[in-house]
Amino acid sequence: VTDQAFVTLATNDVYCQGALVLGQSLRNHRTSRKLAVLITPEVSSGLRSVLRSVFDEVIEVNVLDSADSVHLALMQRPELGVTFTKLHCWTLTHYSKCVFMDADTLVLCNVDELFDREEFSAAPDSGWPDCFNSGVFVFRPSLKTYNLLLQFAAEHGSFDGGDQGLLNSFFSNWATADIGKHLPFLYNLSSSAVYTYVPAFNHFGRDAKVVHFLGATKPWNYKYNLQTKKVMQDGTIDGSLHQLSFLSLWWNIYSASILPLLE
Ligand code: UDP
Ligand code: MN
Repeated sequence: VTDQAFVTLATNDVYCQGALVLGQSLRNHRTSRKLAVLITPEVSSGLRSVLRSVFDEVIEVNVLDSADSVHLALMQRPELGVTFTKLHCWTLTHYSKCVFMDADTLVLCNVDELFDREEFSAAPDSGWPDCFNSGVFVFRPSLKTYNLLLQFAAEHGSFDGGDQGLLNSFFSNWATADIGKHLPFLYNLSSSAVYTYVPAFNHFGRDAKVVHFLGATKPWNYKYNLQTKKVMQDGTIDGSLHQLSFLSLWWNIYSASILPLLE
């Protein structure tokens, strides 16, 4: 299938590490879809060439390069910078349907069945389940939608300052309109949920399909011992074995498949 793609975003070299592990995890599980990554000019040429070896398409978007009418209004809202960059995924109109995935996600199995879903499909947010989490979503690229989103951003901003608030306000009937657009939580399992509802995790967690390392501390912020293949625990890890095993998985992919490309 060449007109459908998984899409991620990395605005700097640090987030590229996440994008690379995500892309590699999709390859490891033999996706039949294309892999695309959006980057900004800040990303170094070294990482661009590594990205090209994992992704089918590396697309540079400019944070300031936007649809003319709302460009100026958005320039007044610098806090929407990264948010705005994520919206560029709607401009990938050479694809008929895409699945966006944050660079801090990781697939645990083949998830190509996500393409059976329609725009706008996403999983509940563990912090406020009537909102979706914008780390994994199904969408249809469209310049019309893109421009409506930009206009909406300029007029209303975002209630959380990020893309998630904006997208939840824009696709505001998600919570009630069509249960088919609610992805199971297993497609966007936040590592924090693992320890906020332990019995549910113990019961359902074995079927997890996508892990999302949301929050301030990302997998690449931990230390990893290449000899023992252990993620180093420091005070910030919550002691959850499951969380540790997801982190180890991330680091296994990073050390086995990505580090060699960076050398
Ligand atoms: N992102 C990026 N550069 C940044 C911050 C975010 O490229 O400086 C992208 C990246 O794809 C990331 C997504 O935007 O996964 C959303 O940000 P993040 O995952 O940090 O937010 P969280 O999921 O923790 O709320
Ligand atoms: Mn994220």
